[in-house]
Order: sequence, then C-alpha cells, then structure tokens
Amino acid sequence: MKRFDILTLFPEMTSPYTEGSILGRAQKKKKIKITSHNIRDFATGKHKQVDDTPYGGGPGMVMMVEPIEKAVRKVTKKLKKTRVIVTSAKGRTFDQHDAKRLAKYDQLIFICGRYEGIDQRVIDEIADEELSIGNYVLTGGELPALVMTDAIARMIPGVLGNEKTLHEESHSTEGYLEYPQYTKPEVFKMRKGLKKNELTVPSILLSGDHKKIESWRKSQSKTQ
Ligand code: SAM
Repeated sequence: MKRFDILTLFPEMTSPYTEGSILGRAQKKKKIKITSHNIRDFATGKHKQVDDTPYGGGPGMVMMVEPIEKAVRKVTKKLKKTRVIVTSAKGRTFDQHDAKRLAKYDQLIFICGRYEGIDQRVIDEIADEELSIGNYVLTGGELPALVMTDAIARMIPGVLGNEKTLHEESHSTEGYLEYPQYTKPEVFKMRKGLKKNELTVPSILLSGDHKKIESWRKSQSKTQ
C-alpha cells in the first residue's frame, strides 16, 4: 500500500477531500493510505510555536525548521522508498510526468507552508523537491498537496475503477488533450432567448461506425 503523509497546520482541511469518492474508496480497498499530521504536535515549548519573524526583517511570519524536521522524521517509514515534497509557489510546476514519476514511490511526504512561507533550510536540506501547482499564490500548501496527491494516486494501479481511461486522457500522450465527450440526451432543448434552441451531439458519434468515430476523436484531440 502506498502512503501519502501530509504535514500541515490545518489537518482538518484535508480529510473531507481524501475520504470522499475515488480516494476514499481506494483507501478502503487498501491501495493507498492518506494521513494528515499536525505540525504543531511536533513543536516544543509552552506555546507550541511553529513560526517566527524573518531574519533580516520583513512582513509576516516564517514556518520554523524544527517542528517540520521532527514531523518528517517521525512519519518517515524507514524501509520504504520515500520522497519529501515541499509545496511552494516558487517551485517547479508539477505536471503529469511528475504524477507518473512520483506514483512509483512507496511513501510521499508533503510539507504544507502557511504565512510568508517556510524556512529555506527545510527546502534545501529536508525536502527532496520543491513543487508548485501554478503561477499564483495560495494561502497555504494544503490545496497543492491535495492536488498532487489526487493526480499521483490515480496513476497507482487499483485506485481507479477503470484503468483504461488513463490511456485516453489529456496529457497521457505527449501533446494531446482529450477529445470532446457527450452523453444523453441526444438533443438538449435550451431555454428560449439563449443563443441556440437545441444543442445536438455530433452525428458521427451516433453512427455506430467505430473506425470513423476513432478517427474523428483523433482529429479532435487538440495538440498543446
Ligand atoms: N511568500 C511566498 C511567496 O511569495 O512565494 C508565498 C507564501 S504562501 C502565502 C504560503 C504557502 O502556501 C507556501 O509556503 C506554500 O506552501 C503554499 N503555496 C502557495 N501558493 C502555492 C502554489 N502555487 N503552489 C504550491 N504551494 C503554494
């Protein structure tokens, strides 16, 4: 079973997502295990401090190295092939290649930042890689950790009900995005006053000619 460990100051934010739908089912089937850990539990002192002001001055607070180092050490499963990922708006952008590559590890540990970010020593010496999910700044690393966990988990055999879908999806083949998909009804009647009254399905998909459908789908798969 592959493990995902999410280190965060807000563990209650992650379980509503990881316990639902496909990720929830995959955990029940024991294909994956996703656990969130509160970094504050690894802080010392009466106030369980996890952040402090930045050296050199500047706004906001920076997450301290010590509780994060302790948390990583505690959750690391020694005999497993483990990778520690720090979520960061300035990291390299995560993509489908990373999802496939990271799915090969036995254990992935995600470090979620908050506030102004994380002490650089975590990034340089504790994490194996620093990944972003896009060129924008979020309030914390929880959504990025969930986004990456989701994309990686669906690459793990047994997590999806139908693995065949993986081969036809966007980004599964270099340069291709998935063709347009339609389902019932064949004709959808729109409310009056909108651009079109009836929205139909391309007739080729109703033809029953599988060769023609395949070549139409190929032609519709947009190159990036
Ligand atoms: N001061 C930081 C900067 O300018 O790059 C932003 C810190 S952000 C408010 C707090 C935390 O959210 C970061 O430490 C990181 O863990 C997470 N985060 C924010 N945006 C992210 C993104 N696009 N991808 C991955 N993590 C992100």
